[in-house]
Amino acid sequence: MDFKLSKEHRALQEKAREFTEQVLFPYEMEVEENNGLSPESHKYINGQVMEWGFNATNHSKEHGGTGYTLFEQALISEQLGMSTGAIWDAVPQPSFPMKFGTKEQIEEYLIPTCQCKRRDAYAITEADAGSDPTMCQTTAVKCDGGYKINGEKWYVTVGNIADYLLVHTHIDGDPNKATVFFVEKDTPGVSIKRTPEFTHHFAFKHPEFLFEDVVVDESKILKGIGEGFNMTKDWFVEARLGIAARCVGGAERVLKEANDFAANRVQGDRVIRDYQVIEHMLVDMTMDIMAAKSLLYRVCWEISGDMDRKLKHARASAIKLWCSEMVNRVTDKGVQILGGRGYMRENAVERLWRDQRVDRIWEGTSEIQRNVIGGQIKKRGIELYTGWAYEE
Ligand SMILES: Cc1cc2nc3c(=O)[nH]c(=O)nc-3n(C[C@H](O)[C@H](O)[C@H](O)COP(=O)(O)OP(=O)(O)OC[C@H]3O[C@@H](n4cnc5c(N)ncnc54)[C@H](O)[C@@H]3O)c2cc1C
Repeated sequence: MDFKLSKEHRALQEKAREFTEQVLFPYEMEVEENNGLSPESHKYINGQVMEWGFNATNHSKEHGGTGYTLFEQALISEQLGMSTGAIWDAVPQPSFPMKFGTKEQIEEYLIPTCQCKRRDAYAITEADAGSDPTMCQTTAVKCDGGYKINGEKWYVTVGNIADYLLVHTHIDGDPNKATVFFVEKDTPGVSIKRTPEFTHHFAFKHPEFLFEDVVVDESKILKGIGEGFNMTKDWFVEARLGIAARCVGGAERVLKEANDFAANRVQGDRVIRDYQVIEHMLVDMTMDIMAAKSLLYRVCWEISGDMDRKLKHARASAIKLWCSEMVNRVTDKGVQILGGRGYMRENAVERLWRDQRVDRIWEGTSEIQRNVIGGQIKKRGIELYTGWAYEE
């Protein structure tokens, strides 16, 4: 076994770190103080994303992306995850299911989105459909001119700056016909109902959308009628690995800041790292990161290869669960080590502490991940998680 990163992967990791430090870090306080990124700053970052070649790392070059493997995407996301205020979301990763689009949809939506010229947002969740999206009440009913969509969507991330939405509906209210439509935001009948505030200060907003008799052509269906859930499930693999990678990066930044602080902060007759309680916190943070990073790299490397779709899903749940819970343990200790400074918004540790809380909630809560893993253990046995792949 050889766990070393290749020279190319090491260079990619370094480049992503430089990009994060040089392009994203300078905007952190703007997002914090204004609770969002200004259009000018967003435009500048978009230009830099293209220049550095980090646009649509999750889509093929043929579709306008940069075509990195899942392992390479994780190396990049880990670095981006060090930025606060979710400025990593200004480095767009167009929704994975768009790659299933028709030739026309790929030209109209995917390619310009991969080139930072347009922006998508994915709308599944509703007031009564969260962990269980089969309870979706948004309907699409056949009418003259295509389909008429009615309903309401919650927490639509980047909804404020998106040009179009991917809207998860049930045709005729039938959960077996879960279907996703491309909907331009300026289509008559589409409106923002409310833009709630959240714990984090995020580069963009998560508005709630209303769809009132929104007529959309049949050609705007993505992949086909009834394909909504399967597409989302496949996407979960990529999305959950992305979250896990960002959690590892965020935790690394917190540990670095806490370690530096503890080495310099004198209280009583010594630097605080010489109090064993503080040193042990640093140890626990380090061990947590070491374990999470080992798991992340291993799983991303495995998934980048040829692996059964259900196994990928099972693995991605485990890693999302582990890394999102890990970063919350680490950031909490980071705040404690910094003392009062750890509670000040001007410090990255405090911002990461707020930022990372949502990672245990979105893209499937920790409880849902445990349900998935529990189900897999019951069906396939514990070796799925505790075993090791071997040559046949
Ligand atoms: C900041 C933010 C951004 C988001 N962005 C988007 C987005 O862009 N697009 C989108 O569609 N959605 C988005 N979401 C929605 C997110 O995916 C949901 O919040 C999440 O899936 C949980 O759903 P819920 O909030 O309705 O909680 P609920 O499903 O109501 O869950 C409440 C509690 O019950 C638990 N629970 C529920 N069902 C079970 C079960 N079967 N077994 C055990 N426990 C259970 C949950 O784990 C949780 O603890 C976003 C959410 C947030 C907070």
